[in-house]
Order: sequence, then structure tokens, then C-alpha cells
Amino acid sequence: MGTHHTAASTGKRAAMPDNPPGDIPGEEFRRYGHEIVDWIAEYLQHPEDYPVLSQVTPGEIARALPDGPPADPEPLSDVLADFERVIMPGITHWNHPGFMAYFGVTGSAPGILGELLAAALNVNGMLWRTSPAASELEAVSLDWLRQLLGLPPSFEGIIYDTASISTLVAVAAAREATGLPYREQGSAGLPPLSLYCSEHAHSSVEKGAITLGIGQQGVRAIPVDEAFRMDVGVLREAIDKDRAAGRLPFCVVATAGTTSTTSVDPIPAIAEVAAENNLWLHVDAAYGGAAAILPEKRWILEGAERADSLVMNPHKWLFTPIDLSAFFSPRLDTVHAAFSLVPEYLRTGDGEVRNYMDYGPQLGRRFRALKLWFVLRAFGADGLRSRIRDHIRLAGDFAAWVDAAPDWERLAPVPLSVVCFRAAPARMNEEALNALNQRILDRVNQAGRVFLSHTRLRGMLTLRVAIGNIRSDRAYVRLAWEELVAALAAELSVPV
Ligand SMILES: *Cc1c(COP(=O)(O)O)cnc(C)c1O
Repeated sequence: MGTHHTAASTGKRAAMPDNPPGDIPGEEFRRYGHEIVDWIAEYLQHPEDYPVLSQVTPGEIARALPDGPPADPEPLSDVLADFERVIMPGITHWNHPGFMAYFGVTGSAPGILGELLAAALNVNGMLWRTSPAASELEAVSLDWLRQLLGLPPSFEGIIYDTASISTLVAVAAAREATGLPYREQGSAGLPPLSLYCSEHAHSSVEKGAITLGIGQQGVRAIPVDEAFRMDVGVLREAIDKDRAAGRLPFCVVATAGTTSTTSVDPIPAIAEVAAENNLWLHVDAAYGGAAAILPEKRWILEGAERADSLVMNPHKWLFTPIDLSAFFSPRLDTVHAAFSLVPEYLRTGDGEVRNYMDYGPQLGRRFRALKLWFVLRAFGADGLRSRIRDHIRLAGDFAAWVDAAPDWERLAPVPLSVVCFRAAPARMNEEALNALNQRILDRVNQAGRVFLSHTRLRGMLTLRVAIGNIRSDRAYVRLAWEELVAALAAELSVPV
């Protein structure tokens, strides 16, 4: 590396024999490759050496970087040094055992190694022939995952980057399934479409409707019951009302594990309504789906065998590095009809093969299946089950601590690994409680040992502990609780 640097700075780069066109020497790749793998191994053993939530202020990282790219080659040792010096302080550590905000996207060592190999191969799996193994491993690894989830063999899988895109694809397929020429004409001269989901559905459902031109006014947010599950009676009424008004109800999205509280919509009853009204049923199990690999939690996907499509994210709670979203459908022919548009130069005559470019808006696709295959094999079904089971058990422990503490209250049931709760000392009004809980959250997150997020339930600022990190253990979940208790005590200015 040193010689490159010298050559560059003398301005005679083109003439230097040690700086030929092409990639850096294999020798250097090997040296830095080993160095980086060592760095990663160290990091994965001790992510808790860093504050879980990055402590930088907006613009701080950008200001520490040059305004433009270097004209001359820089040694990788310099790049690595700046990675540690400039980039690392701006990292929020999703690998940290104290990361309990949102839903974790928890990777794992086997997943990282699979990702490394995928980057090295750098294939574009748009067609079967552009890398047969990429296409075939995608089909096989998703079929393994399908079996773990207990979905029928008729459900075939496709990998997209995120659940948001999986759901967009589902909504496009649902529109295609109406049999009306929305694909050709847009909405001109056709009935306006109505899509249904619960008011707790993920924003990606609405974004999909926006992207596809269905419009926000085509999305009906159905109210929920006391446990935050879609009210199926109201769903029926909304469909009838839309039909009477000349709209075309075409799709319903049921959520198995909502983002705020992980509530599970009554999928069997929703499937019944979908069947009666000829609606496409899409199940959003982006986070919750992982729990269905446990026999005792399989109920969360009960009724999903009647769905037209389903999404779950191995990158959320199945230890696969982001991004990898698994989409399943017994009607991939409809997905194909919604998206296939093959220019002459991509016609292959390969016969009965699946060309994944025909199943979504994008042409090029990464070899994501490789990392999923590594994860499924390196942990095995039982290894995955025991980790998910632990997380659910820890969430149960946390919920019990909340329930037993007089100054705290739980705000939602805990079917999976997320607990919704708040501090609720006596004699404080709702407004004061909201402010108090915001201050508790800020205090805990500032300290940097755990990172929690919030939601709002029935107007109440709600704290949320989401357990899903592969490194979160009982000690860390206990630490989160102790930090919260200490933060409340500090807020109330009484000794702990
Ligand atoms: C996280 C989440 C999504 C969005 O997932 P992305 O992969 O980030 O797009 C959608 N639905 C639910 C229920 C989620 O929890």
C-alpha cells in the first residue's frame, strides 16, 4: 500500500508498474481481508464496548469527511483508520445486546459470511441463466423456510429487499387479480380501488397504495379491538359501503405482529371475509412470522394457509443480515402477470425456469439466498427455535416485572417478544405522564447502555422493549428494567 501512496503523490501514477489498471493486488486483498475479519470477530464479541445509540449530532460525520473523492489512490490502511475514527462513532449498534428499540435487525456470524461470499461472487440473479445457483438456492432456501413456518407446499417464495417491497408486490398482484386492465390503462375509466388493513398496520401498506396510484383515499384503516386486533365486523361494513359507492374492494392486509404492540389480527375471520368478497388476502408477518417456527406460537399464522400472499423478514428476527424479506404466495402466476415485461435482449429460451426479474419492479437482484442458507444450516431449525423461544421468555419476564411494580403499568398484551408499558406513578394526569415517560426514555437512551423506542397507544406515550437481538440475554433485559426504574427514581428525585 505504501508504494501506491508514494507513486500517487509523485504524480507519476500512470507510469508506475505497481499501479496497473484493474483491481488491487490479490496479496493486499488477502492481508486486509484477514485484518477486517479479525476486526469483525472482535467487534461481534464486544459490541457492548460502544454506546448502543450513536452519540453524534446531525452533520458531525459528514463534516469530518473531505468534500470530494481523492484523485489518487489511498492505502486501504488509511481507509480502515478513518473507518474507526470517523465512521464508528456514528454507528448505532444494532448488534449491541442492549438494542431493544423498534424491531431488531439482528445479523449473525453465519449470515455475515454468506453476505461476504455473495459480495465476492457479485452475480446478478435477474435470469436463471445469469446464475442458476442464485435462482435455485432462492427457491430451495425459501421452501425450507416455508416448511419451518408451516405454510402449505403451494406457497412458493421470492426474496425481496424489504417487507415494504414485498407488500407493494402483493398489492400489485391483488390489483392484477381483479381481472380489470389497471396494468394497461392505469385507473382511467375503471372503478376506484379500496384496500383494507387495520389502523395498526405498517405504513408500508399505505406507501404501496400511494406508489401504485391507488391513493391514500383508497386505503381504509379499520379500527381495532381492545387487544389492538382488526375489528372484522367493521371490515365487513366498510367493504359493503365501498361497494355501494361504486368502488372496487380488492385487497385486505392482515398483520401477524403489528409494529406498535405485536398484536395478531384474526386471520381466519379475515380470510372468510376475503373469500366472500373476492379480495386478495395479504398477511404481513414481517416481524411476527419468525415466531411461527415454534409449535407453541404457530397459532399466529392460523388462517394464513388461505392467504394469497404472506411476507416475513428473516432480516428482522431470524438472524439474517439486512436485507432479506421472504414473500410467499400460492399465486405466483398472478405476480408474474402483474410484472412480467421481457425485452428482446433478455429472452433466453431456457424453458421451464423461473426468471426472478419477472416478479417485481427491479431487474437486477443480489444473491441474498446465500446468507439465508448459511443461517438455516449453521443454526438448524432447533437452534433458531431455541433463540426465538428465549426472546419470548425474556419478554414474559420483563412483562412480569412491570406488572409487579406499583409505579408502572403494562399497556398491551405480550403475545411475542415486545412489551408496551409506561411509568404511571399515582396522582399524575395524562399530560404529565406523557412528559414523564418521554423524559425517562431520553434519560435511558442517553446513558447508552440500552436503546428503547416508543409508540403511542390511545393517546398514551408508550415505552417499548423489543427483544430480538441474538446477543440479548437475561442480564441485559434486567439491565433495561433497572435503567428504567433508576430513571423514574431520578425523575421523581427520590433515592433509588
Ligand atoms: C418492520 C415491518 C415492516 C417493514 O419492514 P421493512 O423490511 O423495513 O420494509 C412491515 N410490516 C411490519 C409488520 C413490520 O414490523
